[in-house]
Amino acid sequence: MKDLNVDVVVVGAGPAGTITAKYAAKSGARVLIIEKRQEIGSPVRCGEGIAGGRWLDDVGIRESDKWLTHRVKGAKIVSPDGSTLIIDEKIAGKEVGMVIERDIFDKELARDAIMAGADIMIKTSAIGLLNKDKRIIGVRAKHMDSKFNISANIVVGADGFESQVGRWAQIDTTLAPKDISTCFQYRMIDIEPDPDYCEFIIEDVLKGGYIWVFPKGKDEANVGCGMQLNKIKEKGAVRAYLDDFIKRHPQYSSGKTIEMVAGAVSVSAPIERTVGEGILLVGDAARQVNPMTGGGIANGCIAAKIAGEVIGEAVAVGDFSAEFLAKYEKGWRKKLEDSLYLNWAAREKLTTLGNEAINKIIKSLSEVKIDQLSTLKIIKVISDRHPELLEELSDLI
Ligand SMILES: Cc1cc2nc3c(=O)[nH]c(=O)nc-3n(C[C@H](O)[C@H](O)[C@H](O)COP(=O)(O)OP(=O)(O)OC[C@H]3O[C@@H](n4cnc5c(N)ncnc54)[C@H](O)[C@@H]3O)c2cc1C
Repeated sequence: MKDLNVDVVVVGAGPAGTITAKYAAKSGARVLIIEKRQEIGSPVRCGEGIAGGRWLDDVGIRESDKWLTHRVKGAKIVSPDGSTLIIDEKIAGKEVGMVIERDIFDKELARDAIMAGADIMIKTSAIGLLNKDKRIIGVRAKHMDSKFNISANIVVGADGFESQVGRWAQIDTTLAPKDISTCFQYRMIDIEPDPDYCEFIIEDVLKGGYIWVFPKGKDEANVGCGMQLNKIKEKGAVRAYLDDFIKRHPQYSSGKTIEMVAGAVSVSAPIERTVGEGILLVGDAARQVNPMTGGGIANGCIAAKIAGEVIGEAVAVGDFSAEFLAKYEKGWRKKLEDSLYLNWAAREKLTTLGNEAINKIIKSLSEVKIDQLSTLKIIKVISDRHPELLEELSDLI
């Protein structure tokens, strides 16, 4: 394989990588995406829940029957005593509304990037970065048995949760064990999920995990479990927790599994820096996942559009400095940082409250009609009904 030369090399063909590539290519940059897997989007490592609506339009994703499997009305949050809060799709955030076929979704986004002018190489891994005078000037890559250099003015690290690109560029993306959610999921058939809602079930908050049931129809769902890494005492604990949940629930226990998924997501506060000289990180690699739900598709795509546009401008003016790329850093933080922090702080707090407090909070919220699920309104409801909990929540206010 010969060495290559492009304006931008994007490492990783997940949603964050392909949306970045699409917008950079649209603005005239010569973009190459490299993806280490042999098939884009596969194997799936996702619960496949996303919201419908505006954010899709904003990042230029057209809703399609090819990947939209099932629509839900919103989310159900179930507390340890079974109290249930139903949240309408419009206010439930960016992770409910649609359940998708993630492998097809990812391929469609790759298609959009290619149609916008980006090039792509599959089964091609970044194995290191090329540096000159403290600048990143491309990647060392491997395709099959062949190693070669890809020179580029900008490298995009869109290489997901296990990102190496950030580390190679000395951008600190390290995560504390408490900021990692380890996940296990079954895609199950011949079960009886509630087809109208994506469910988040908190059985025991002190175990640091929750179960999700995302319906793909009336007899099919992704049934999964996420658990904070610092709470895991032995190998296989997440799967054992999920198996036990399924066994105790007859609507799932008679079902059959057609797919198993294991993976991890970051549930951290935003990291300090996502750009450097000739480099930027986006999506899971930049830790842009919602720390409350572990959902990262929408945030990754929103940040990616900003990244692609800023890259387009950088290529147009020939400035690839960290200072110029900071426009991306400012842009994504403006859109996402406050909610990432708030969700992270809320998650930290919730995992320290006992089950009883969680029961009270979910019950109180479920008994009043809140049209907007803002933090202030939640605090108001809690202060009216359970003033004794306010002190515990004071650092969130
Ligand atoms: C079990 C589980 C369930 C989830 N459920 C949901 C959900 O329901 N809703 C939601 O919104 N989010 C969910 N998430 C999170 C979501 O999957 C991620 O936030 C999303 O995939 C991030 O997109 P990305 O493009 O940043 O990274 P990814 O989709 O991870 O893409 C990164 C790509 O980079 C490639 N790559 C990595 N290293 C290299 C390399 N060196 N060279 C070349 N290519 C490389 C990988 O092969 C991969 O294709 C879940 C995650 C897990 C693990």
